[in-house]
Order: sequence, then structure tokens, then C-alpha cells
Amino acid sequence: MKLVVKKFGGTSVGDLGRISQVAELLRKFLAENPGVGLVVVVSAMAGETNRLTALAKSLVAEPDPRELDTLLATGEQVSIALVSIALRQLGIPARSFDAQQAQIATNNRHLEAQIEGINAAALNAALARGEIPVVAGFQGVDEEGSITTLGRGGSDITAVAIAAALKADACYIYTDVDGVYSTDPRICRYAKRLTQTSHEEMLEMASLGAKVLHPRSVYFAMQYAVPLVVLSTFNPERGGTWVVPEEELVEKAVVTGITYRNDEAKISVHHMPQGIKSFNLVFSALAEQGIFVDMITQAGAADGTTTVSFTVPDEASSKALALMQALVPKIKAEGASLERDIAKISVVGVGMRYHTGVAAKLFEALAAEGIDVSMIATSEIKISVLVPRKFSEVSIRALHRAFIENQPEIALERGAAAV
Ligand code: ADP
Ligand code: ASP
Ligand code: MG
Repeated sequence: MKLVVKKFGGTSVGDLGRISQVAELLRKFLAENPGVGLVVVVSAMAGETNRLTALAKSLVAEPDPRELDTLLATGEQVSIALVSIALRQLGIPARSFDAQQAQIATNNRHLEAQIEGINAAALNAALARGEIPVVAGFQGVDEEGSITTLGRGGSDITAVAIAAALKADACYIYTDVDGVYSTDPRICRYAKRLTQTSHEEMLEMASLGAKVLHPRSVYFAMQYAVPLVVLSTFNPERGGTWVVPEEELVEKAVVTGITYRNDEAKISVHHMPQGIKSFNLVFSALAEQGIFVDMITQAGAADGTTTVSFTVPDEASSKALALMQALVPKIKAEGASLERDIAKISVVGVGMRYHTGVAAKLFEALAAEGIDVSMIATSEIKISVLVPRKFSEVSIRALHRAFIENQPEIALERGAAAV
């Protein structure tokens, strides 16, 4: 039997009118595709996860993670019931499934749990009965039976993981934009919709801030070869963006996308005596506390000392600063400081593998706007720079002009040599 998974995000189920619209979209799909199996995955109604988080945090600053997960999971539980009620009203035999009922097993890392397996038996049995399972996104159950959640935006992961477990023919991610754009269309009105993007560049774009897909959902799609498409709930006929293996790309643009993240902070340890020992102490102190470090730079001074700077997730920044301040006397550094008003802007594209000059063009575009870059990180298919947060939108628009608007479409032969 042909089978598809269709996931609807928070805005798509944001109120009862939109839920009726989703039900109608699904009714039409089923009428036009008789015999095709369908599993629906839904997010909480727009704003609900934020509301629930704020509710718990107004009680205590750091709510117990297990209890917070129990609370957050209710958002998706409301949606599965309402969508199922709306579908049944149209004569469609829908049946809601929470994570326990859908048998979505995760580890016990509350608030950022990872799916370890889905026992397809329950969903397959429903499908065999001719039902349409409507599954709660974002949630799972750990070994002890506690409710877990997968991290913000995690319903995308649920959808792709179910598609992989059920060996579905495709996973459709319906959202409030009609595909993946060259940058966030809310920031740059010249953003272009991509008809295709490769797993690898989508994974980079998602990890570097394009929140239209959760990075782990892209990883699962790549790992389990799940055909994945992003499209609009409100204008599905406009088509969308397919995420495909790199060898299936028709065009390999040098830069496909420009992304930004505002949720990192920069810490500097000033004027440490040079030598690998101090570096080791700095980074092992962070690692021992489970703090992720992203970009790192060092700058030597004429007096023979070194200043090391690095970025960490903003929520871990106070803890990281305290750790560094405690280390300062031990490593004989001059002091430690924290900067929070920064943004990481990245340009991503598989064509960078074959083209030189991307960094030069990036610095030229930012320099023309008078924007200073304080850190740089590169990989084969991306360059990220750190800029003052107040310049993040100007930087995105400048880079979009330089790399996308003023650029002829570049279609590369597969395996073309770098020039
Ligand atoms: P959903 O609730 O449907 O999961 P999200 O809010 O998580 O939707 O993701 C969709 C949003 O992602 C869009 O409204 C858009 O503002 C944002 N976005 C950021 N970068 C991009 C991009 N490159 N292409 C498309 N949308 C993007
Ligand atoms: N409701 C969750 C969130 O807001 C999951 C999701 O929407 O994907 O993050
Ligand atoms: Mg989302």
C-alpha cells in the first residue's frame, strides 16, 4: 500500500478555522488518492508551547524538566483531539495517538530527548483497519514511561521518524510558508523559494538557524532515505521544496541559503599566558559541565599573552562565564567577559565545494555596509561569521544581494572542478 505522512505545524492548526482548513485539505487528498494510506502528525496550536513554558516559569525560574515535559506535551494532545474531531465530522475515520499510543520511544533527556525507536505495530494496525492516525508531534516516552519532548520545533522529527518507521513513500511538512527560501522571507522580501535543496545543505541551514525544518528531521530523512517536501498549508497547490540527495540536484548554486542565529553568546578569556595548558583547562572546564562550544578564535598580543574567545548557547552563557571567572586566577589570565548582543550569520551551499572566492565576496559585502566581523567558522559548504546583533538583518540583506539577487543561476556539471 502506498503511504504518506503529512505534518501540520503550529500556525496551520492555530485556531478552529485553520483546523477545519487542514481537515478539508486532508479530505480532498483522500478523495483524490483512494487506497493511499495516510498518517497525520500535528504540533501544538501556535503560541501554546510558549504559553505553557511561561506558565511553568512564572511558578519557578527553572521548572523540573520531567514535569515541564508533562506540561508541554499537553499542547500537542489538544491538537490531535481537535484535528481528529474535525476529520470525523467530515466522515473520515481519524483516531488520535499520543506518543505512548503511537509507541514512540526516546531516551530520558527531558526537553531534548532523542527518538530511539518507533514500534510500527500500533500505527500499522490502525492503518490496516482503514483508520487515519493523527499523531502528537514533539513528544515521546522514555524507558520508565515518563513523557519526554524532543526540543523546540521537534514535531518535524516525529513526522520524518514515523515516515521512516512505516517506510512511507513521502513525508509532507505543511507550514506557513510555501517552501524553503534562500533566507527567512520575513527578513528579506527578495528571498527566493528553492525548488530543491540537498540533505546536506538543508541540514547546515537548519542547524544554522533556518527554523523551517528541525535539523534532526533532515538527518533522519537523509539516513532513512525518506522523500521530504516542505509546502504551505494555505496554498499547497503552489508546490514546495523537495529535500533530495545531492546527486539529484539539478542546479548546484554556490550559495543556496543565508541563515542567522541570535541565540549564542560570546565569551572571552583575556590575556592568558600562551601555551596549550591554559587552552586545555578552558575547554575541559566547559566540556565537564556539558556546555557546547561553537566558534573559537584566539588572538596573540605583543606582550606574549593570548586572548581566546568562543561562543556558547545563550542559555548556558552565565554558567560558562562563571566557570571562566573561576579559572582566571588559576591560569593567570587578566579576566573573562561575556557579550550577548551578537548574531551568527551563515552562507550555505554545496557549490562552495567547487568555487573559490566565497569568503572574499562575503567580506566585501559586509565591509561595504561597514559591518565588522569578530569570528569566522567554515566547513566545506558553509561560512559563518559573528556580527553585532543590531546588524544581523542588514548583514543578511547585504549577503542576499551579493550572493543570490545579483547572481546568474549557476548550473554546475556534476563533479566540475574548482575554479
Ligand atoms: P511550523 O510551526 O509550521 O513548524 P516554523 O515556525 O517552525 O513553522 O517554521 C516556519 C518559519 O520558518 C517561517 O514562517 C519562516 O519565518 C521561518 N524561516 C526561517 N528561515 C527560513 C527559510 N530559509 N525558508 C523558509 N522559512 C524560513
Ligand atoms: N510545539 C512544539 C514547539 O512549539 C513543537 C513544534 O511545533 O514542532 O516547539
Ligand atoms: Mg517548526
